[in-house]
Amino acid sequence: MKVLVANLGSTSFKYRLFDMQTESQLARGGIDRIGEEADSNCFVEIGDNRQEVQTRIADHAAAVQMCLDQLTDRETGCLSSVDEVAAIGFKAVFAGKLSGVRIVDDNLLDTMEALADVAPAHNPPYAKAMRQLRAAFPAIPLVAALETAFHETIAPEYRTYAVPYEWQEKYEVRRWGFHGASHRYIGGRMAEITGRDDLKVISCHLGGSSSICAMEGGESRSNSLGMTPQSGLPQNNRVGDFDPYALRLVKRLTGKDYDTLLDELASQGGLLGMSGVSNDARDIEQAAEQGNAQADLALKVYTADIKRYIGQYLAVLNGANAIVFTGGIGENSERVRRDVCANMDYVGLHLDKERNKHVDGETKISTEDSRIEIWVVPTNEEIVVARQTVAAVNSN
Ligand code: ADP
Repeated sequence: MKVLVANLGSTSFKYRLFDMQTESQLARGGIDRIGEEADSNCFVEIGDNRQEVQTRIADHAAAVQMCLDQLTDRETGCLSSVDEVAAIGFKAVFAGKLSGVRIVDDNLLDTMEALADVAPAHNPPYAKAMRQLRAAFPAIPLVAALETAFHETIAPEYRTYAVPYEWQEKYEVRRWGFHGASHRYIGGRMAEITGRDDLKVISCHLGGSSSICAMEGGESRSNSLGMTPQSGLPQNNRVGDFDPYALRLVKRLTGKDYDTLLDELASQGGLLGMSGVSNDARDIEQAAEQGNAQADLALKVYTADIKRYIGQYLAVLNGANAIVFTGGIGENSERVRRDVCANMDYVGLHLDKERNKHVDGETKISTEDSRIEIWVVPTNEEIVVARQTVAAVNSN
């Protein structure tokens, strides 16, 4: 069975094609500038062969058509026909109680649209693109793997906000948790690496979006992302955990309304807001190295928050066997890993500084006498979504 896994942005479409018999990746590609007044760059990689085309792409249905044309190209493609694509899987973000893994239908799309204000950067482009794809490719099942599904195992005491009861019951205001595919992958991979299925793992997915997850036996016990992807750790340009009452003061002092202030917090906050440099950790590290104190403080706040969550989760899990770093920052930033793991000897955590400097793929970076192992494990959210897509199609 061949499955396409789609990663959508409002003007972009990235994909991977898997042969699920062997779980091998057959192709990957991406298309940018969708719907813009400019040519899109459409690339596809099949084995060692990379192709690029520049052309105008009107919408996401046209982007998928371009992708299928490239994949079925007689000379360079890897599919003999579009019929070989058994399903398209999506890492969808939020549909409230419609969580889990589901075939995309009107009910799901209506719900994602109705709840767009929870995930404004993600829900609208996904719902729009899924509607276009259903119309354009009615024979290909579309499957949504909701990011919240992995966190259904979190106990009520770790999911419930201290809000008026009606907010929880009527409006579903609770800590939903996100980044499910990544944390699920890390939990499963650590079980494979160690040969144990009872591990307590603290998974630190640090990237454009960041979250920490406490897991036991591969199940989520707590996640730093709460009701919306704007919560938890400082994000690239989104605020993270914050006291909502500060809004009233800033509203009065600036004369701006709540929607404007919330949009500012979701686009000019996080690492960008604190550093004043960039929403990209590489730029901030470089500025900090060159003596920019504000950039340095942004990184210190980020690592301090990661530390606080690790401390919480050591308490939630009653200890841990491993702490894992993943995501663009987790996999690549020597500084962030070093600072997070510094001064944690009280809990038996010892980073091997040399190993931390020479990470290559899956790498253990703790010392041999560290009670808690520290690992870098590159995540693979797409294979998780591909597996879930196969299961959903088979059980339908
Ligand atoms: P997304 O959450 O959008 O998938 P990624 O997981 O790709 O994002 O992470 C993007 C982040 O990773 C960016 O902030 C980028 O600066 C950071 N990053 C990538 N490479 C490095 C590096 N070598 N050092 C520090 N940060 C890095």
